[in-house]
Amino acid sequence: MMAQYLALKAEAADCLLFYRMGDFFELFFDDAKAAAATLDIALTARGEHDGRPVPMCGVPVHAAEAYLARLIRAGHRVAIAEQTESPAAAKARGGKALVTRAIVRFVTAGTLTEEALLDARAANWLVALGEAGGMLGLAAADISTGRFEIAAIDRAALDAELARYGAAEVVVPEGFALADAVVRPKADFDSSGGAARLQALFGVATLDGIGQFGRAELAAAGGLVAYLDHAGKGTLPFLQRPVTRGLAAHMTIDAATRESLELTRASGGGRAGSLLDCIDRTVTGAGARLLAADIGAPLMDRQAIDARLDLVDHYVRDGGARDGMRAALRALPDIGRALGRLVAGRGGPRDLAQLRDGLGEARLMRERLARDDAMPPLLTALLPAFDGHGALVDRLARALVPSPPLDAAQGGYIAEGYDAALDVLRGQGGEGRRAIAALEARYRGETGIAALKIRHNAVLGYHVEVPARHAEPLMRADSGFTHRQTLAGVVRFNAPDLHEQALRVGQAGAHALAAEAAHLEELVALAVTRRDAIAATADALARLDVASALAELAVTQGWCRPLLVDQPCLEISGGRHPVVEAAVGRAGERFVANDCTLTEQARLWLVTGPNMGGKSTFLRQNALIAVLAQAGSFVPATRARLGLIDRLFSRVGASDNLARGRSTFMVEMVETAAILAQATPRSFVILDEVGRGTSTYDGLAIAWAVVEAVHEDNRCRCLFATHYHELTRLADRLDALSLHHVRAREWKGELVLLHELGEGPADRSYGLAVARLAGLPPTVLARAGEVLKKLEAGREKTGGIAAGLDDLPLFAAAPAPEPATDPLAEALAAIDPDALTPREALDALYRLKGLV
Ligand code: ADP
Repeated sequence: MMAQYLALKAEAADCLLFYRMGDFFELFFDDAKAAAATLDIALTARGEHDGRPVPMCGVPVHAAEAYLARLIRAGHRVAIAEQTESPAAAKARGGKALVTRAIVRFVTAGTLTEEALLDARAANWLVALGEAGGMLGLAAADISTGRFEIAAIDRAALDAELARYGAAEVVVPEGFALADAVVRPKADFDSSGGAARLQALFGVATLDGIGQFGRAELAAAGGLVAYLDHAGKGTLPFLQRPVTRGLAAHMTIDAATRESLELTRASGGGRAGSLLDCIDRTVTGAGARLLAADIGAPLMDRQAIDARLDLVDHYVRDGGARDGMRAALRALPDIGRALGRLVAGRGGPRDLAQLRDGLGEARLMRERLARDDAMPPLLTALLPAFDGHGALVDRLARALVPSPPLDAAQGGYIAEGYDAALDVLRGQGGEGRRAIAALEARYRGETGIAALKIRHNAVLGYHVEVPARHAEPLMRADSGFTHRQTLAGVVRFNAPDLHEQALRVGQAGAHALAAEAAHLEELVALAVTRRDAIAATADALARLDVASALAELAVTQGWCRPLLVDQPCLEISGGRHPVVEAAVGRAGERFVANDCTLTEQARLWLVTGPNMGGKSTFLRQNALIAVLAQAGSFVPATRARLGLIDRLFSRVGASDNLARGRSTFMVEMVETAAILAQATPRSFVILDEVGRGTSTYDGLAIAWAVVEAVHEDNRCRCLFATHYHELTRLADRLDALSLHHVRAREWKGELVLLHELGEGPADRSYGLAVARLAGLPPTVLARAGEVLKKLEAGREKTGGIAAGLDDLPLFAAAPAPEPATDPLAEALAAIDPDALTPREALDALYRLKGLV
């Protein structure tokens, strides 16, 4: 056995091996130690290996899913080794032959389909990365629903893309450096192999009808499919035809920005407290997943955004349609995931019933939709996705009982009247059981033992049971009963008539089970042939859920429809931060709405004012409004007009992040560098207290230079919050920069924060007043007041820390550092490929090679 175990373990070196032994999955050696620690179950020992006891632990097969879930969540991967023959078959092979076992599946975070292991409201992405010809490709699949995306990506955008998916598992080829990724053989990521795998997967001779893919994309897709093939041991899960998208289909939002804006996860890591959590009014798991995807990937195509907004608008205007739609959706099962399980070969009768109910409801919904007047184009486009399921729904409705069991093993899911032969078998079984019940009465009469019972268990089958004190007469050879078992209080017997009836029941039962299983297989196959159409219906339902949920939100929260325009502006009237507003509201206070008007001429706002005054909130709310607008949602404002944003950046000065224990100033600077390198005139940047992670002089100097660079070079829309009052001097030199502040007032010695934005710089700093608000002891406050007076007196004499800044030459006039010259790049730039003959091209190639 140990040899067999070790051979299997070698196949699954980086996984915990679940080794099936009867009703348990057992784990041995280090696997056992790791699993026992994670699951908090007993670690025991069994036998010896190399003279030492073998550590072991086990989980019962019937409860394995819950344990698997915990192991996967703790970051483990698990290989399942099942018995692939029955113990009887092994015995037949000879004396003490070992039951054969094989790994039937790898369970990993990215390859789950089980309802119990998945979060219903979150997608579960598996991402593979591939390289070819210097390009990078990304393939992503959520196999629980079959969603499949392929894209070519910029190396610089890799981090942003991975952050967008929040992948459960990332797969890379050998030699690709990426922390925490699963490394697979290079050969799996070969681009021509990838093309072949996709062709086989979709049963096509050429990929032309599916999409145009570059070699890097094919490499990534190939690696993904190969990994799924490996994990499923040859059974591929459901993959829809891949969605491809260009580089510029979505607003680019890098990982740091997602984190700082808390788009789909709050800073604590969970969903609670995030924007998504705050705005999610969806009523289905699929809707929640789609909303998360939309918020994570705001669009760059105005037409597509407007189509989404039109649909939301439709449900804003028509409250009846909205309520009706939401009520209908609420009752829907998750057909996307049911389909995923069925295609992966892990589905059961209940999944079929979910298709029956979901698709049946979709049919009614289509009729209701057709009655909506003034149908927006997106709705019209979704309608066909509801058609064509009639035959399948009718078939399932006839075949299945109303609420079938999850598991097929016990039978009982095929409805009466669907199969006459099955009904006969069941009738026979029923007759047999009735006959057995009648036997009980007869045996009682014959033996005179009133306490005699006929019972059934897994070991003995049907048997007669009497209390021990009555057993004597039945023990006699001529009693007609055969002794089977003596327990403490009871004795168990067999009897010829009982045996005969039991056989009848058993045979009828086995045949009925087999008949049901055959029907199940056929029904599953039928559903699977319609998988693309079913997936399309599931997607359409999710879109309706998102649109009607966003409408519900807009109506109840008083949000407005944003207007998308060509100019790079961001003009928000009465803007609010939905998450802070909710928190402030819970505290019984009112959120103060604020305007933001960034235009081409006034694209940079410098926001000053006391701590706790509302600067961060203001910055973030405008970024969130942009995300919501481009995701196709109404926005928390009274009016919003904005030009499409290609990249969004949000950075928070280091000291806010101290808890993370990194060299925070370093992180702050690395992130700021990324913004200066990547922001374009179409981008929107919010910088909150950048420069504060270092000493006052360094910090001011860096903040000053960053503002100048953003203004002069990046020329993007930008909100910059700072407590460096000295920065306000930049207003005189930078014409697209304007000054704003969050207002505060001292009233009877108390500081009142108005959370209201005003024009111009803050009149003074309120640091001591904030300190008082925070409850610093009066003695300390008084002392601080004295120190401040001295400092201010000093400032008057010397001009303070910003003395001399006014003499600084303008940013643009500052001497630029020598650009590094690269002869290879220069030579390349000088070549015009279209103007070369093949001969010249070859010569050029040699010349270039000579330069390396
Ligand atoms: P700052 O960045 O200026 O230090 P924050 O934006 O972090 O200030 O705001 C501090 C607190 O003030 C928030 O947690 C919130 O409770 C409150 N606040 C901020 N903006 C508003 C607003 N517009 N209306 C009401 N309360 C607000």
